[in-house]
Amino acid sequence: MKTIDKINFNGKKAIIRVDFNVPLNNNFEITDKTRINAAIPTIKKILADGGSVILMSHLGRPKNGPEDKFSLKHLLPTLNQKLNTKLLFAPDCISDEAKLLADNLQSGQVLLLENLRFYKEETKGDETFAEKLANLADVYVNDAFGTAHRAHASTTIIAKFFPTTKVFGYVMANEIASINKVLLDTKKPFTAILGGAKVSDKIGIIENLLQKVDHLIIGGGMMFTFIKAMGGEIGSSLVETDLLNMANDILSKAKQKGVSIHIPLDTIVADNFSNDANRKEVASFAIEEGWMGLDIGSKSCSSFKDVILNSSTILWNGPMGVFEMENFAEGTRTIAMAVAGATSKGAYSLIGGGDSVAAINKYELADKVSYVSTGGGAMLEFMEGKELPGIKAILD
Ligand code: AMP
Repeated sequence: MKTIDKINFNGKKAIIRVDFNVPLNNNFEITDKTRINAAIPTIKKILADGGSVILMSHLGRPKNGPEDKFSLKHLLPTLNQKLNTKLLFAPDCISDEAKLLADNLQSGQVLLLENLRFYKEETKGDETFAEKLANLADVYVNDAFGTAHRAHASTTIIAKFFPTTKVFGYVMANEIASINKVLLDTKKPFTAILGGAKVSDKIGIIENLLQKVDHLIIGGGMMFTFIKAMGGEIGSSLVETDLLNMANDILSKAKQKGVSIHIPLDTIVADNFSNDANRKEVASFAIEEGWMGLDIGSKSCSSFKDVILNSSTILWNGPMGVFEMENFAEGTRTIAMAVAGATSKGAYSLIGGGDSVAAINKYELADKVSYVSTGGGAMLEFMEGKELPGIKAILD
């Protein structure tokens, strides 16, 4: 793989596309530093070689030019502390000031550029904008897996200005290696666990996974579209009625391929969408009107746990229920613990997608699974078998 380990950065300036799209509270403090922590080893390797670093990222979704709440300057205290240095800051990513700061950058120094998305040219993939960014440095490093599925100026277009000096950082390299380990170097049995609210977001990944998995566990809100397609009564549970045929299609393809599909046979239902709603455990295929399924039931928990504990490769994307509410979190918690348990027995486990990552963190199991992906949409697209523009641009 073309990674930063292939380059000695001594005396070189590297521009790194990082994913610093972190959540900030009202005091502009970072409430989850996972993405910053993930980028640090890449930055440190370049500095340790004797190079200098220019960091560029987006933050939030600014609509029309600069907005203080989306300024990357809010990240400076954390970055100064993590890198044990005082970063320089360019308050406009392509201004003359940015160019001057970059030109004068000394070995060991780090320059942070202001939010790329203050320019609409970034998301449009504008070539002139990309070239101005490229002119700041000698080497291009892409370490932003979370935006690798977007052909933006800083994630993809910029790479053409570095025909022989473009590489992946460690975040990207680890993401690619872990997904490839699951999809290409699979130890059997391979179990995929899919949950979350919607089937529509996951059709592509299901289709691709049916070619590879032995077991497919389906939980979360999306299970009810399958249950309805199979003729079950789902009360007022979440459903995507336009996808009933698609769900049946998936079920028959699974049968043809010999994939065991596990749909929860029992469900925790509630009489409204709140943590203190009345609730009971019922058969998933016979939910009364006025009740909605918000978690998988206890028999499903124990049968899914068995499947997971007997797997050698595990992919988990999406919670089993509305785990944000304590009374509907048991299914997600059981699955999280089972994935950690299987990993301790030697299975390879990859967790991806915002909410399953939030769940694994909530139960403090992130260091008990093999890999936690930093990219939601990017991981889904990669798993669907699509070529991601940010990855292709480095490999071309
Ligand atoms: P997604 O972004 O599609 O992975 O969906 C994650 C969201 O799905 C979480 O916020 C969960 O609360 C929600 N969810 C999981 N199970 C259910 C359910 N049975 N009914 C409604 N929402 C659910």
